Amino acid sequence: MELKFLGKKKETNDVWTFSFELPQNFTWDPGQFNIYSLKHENEDVRGRQRFFTISSAPFENIINITTRISENGSTFKKALMELELGDKINAKGPDGDFIFEGTGKKYLFIAGGIGITPFRSILSELNHGDLNADIILLYSNSSDNIAFKEEFDSYKNPNLKIEYVVGKRIDENLIKTVDDFKERIIYISGPEQMVKEINNILLGLGIKKENMRKDYFPGYD
Ligand SMILES: Cc1cc2nc3c(=O)[nH]c(=O)nc-3n(C[C@H](O)[C@H](O)[C@H](O)COP(=O)(O)OP(=O)(O)OC[C@H]3O[C@@H](n4cnc5c(N)ncnc54)[C@H](O)[C@@H]3O)c2cc1C
Repeated sequence: MELKFLGKKKETNDVWTFSFELPQNFTWDPGQFNIYSLKHENEDVRGRQRFFTISSAPFENIINITTRISENGSTFKKALMELELGDKINAKGPDGDFIFEGTGKKYLFIAGGIGITPFRSILSELNHGDLNADIILLYSNSSDNIAFKEEFDSYKNPNLKIEYVVGKRIDENLIKTVDDFKERIIYISGPEQMVKEINNILLGLGIKKENMRKDYFPGYD
C-alpha cells in the first residue's frame, strides 16, 4: 500500500514521530509493525527498507512511526527526515504477534529506549478504553529526554504503574522489586542486545519462556 505523509513531530532531542494517512480498511492490533520502503538517492548498504512498529493507537485513525534520528545515521533516516507533506511511502503490513493478550492477566512491560513504540500504541489504546489490566512498565532510557513521558504521566489510572529508569540498565535487582513479577506475562522491547540481556536475566530468575514476549529492534549499536 502507499501511505501519504502528513507531517512529523519532534518528541525529544533525537526522537521523531512521522505521521501518515490511514488507508481505508487498514486495521491493526496495537504492537504490530509495517515494513516500509523508501526509494532515495545514494542509498547506503542498509538500503531502502525498514521495519517500524506503528506507535499510534487504532482509535487515533492515523499511522505513526517513531524513531531515533542519529547525526551519523543511515541514508534511509535522512530520506525520512526530508519527506514533504503529501509525499508517498510504500508499506506492507500489518504484521507481528507482539500484541496485548487481554485484560484478565497481569503484565510487566520492559522497554529500552525507542523500544517503547509498541507499548505506546498498546497503552494509548487501553487508556482510551479505560485501562482494565494490571500493568507495570519499566522504561529505561539513556537520558532524561524520554519519548512519550508527558503523555504517559497524563494517564490517571491506578492499574498502570510506570517506572522510568534513566541512565542505567534494567537489571536483576530492579526486576525483583516488581510486585508479583513471577505471575506476570513479560513483554520486552528494545535494541537486540538489551532484549537478549533481559531475556537471560528472566530465565535466570525462573521465568518460563512461554510467559515472555519479545520484540527485537536490530540496527542500533
Ligand atoms: C519488528 C521490528 C519493529 C521495529 N520497530 C522500530 C520502531 O518502532 N522504531 C525504531 O526506531 N526502530 C524500529 N525497528 C528497527 C528499525 O527497523 C531499524 O533497524 C532501526 O531504526 C535502525 O535504523 P537505521 O538502520 O536506519 O540506523 P540509524 O538509526 O540511522 O542508526 C543507528 C546506528 O547505526 C549506525 N549506522 C547507521 N547507518 C549505518 C551504516 N550504513 N553502516 C554502519 N553503521 C550505520 C549509526 O551511526 C547509529 O549509531 C524495528 C525493527 C523490527 C524488526
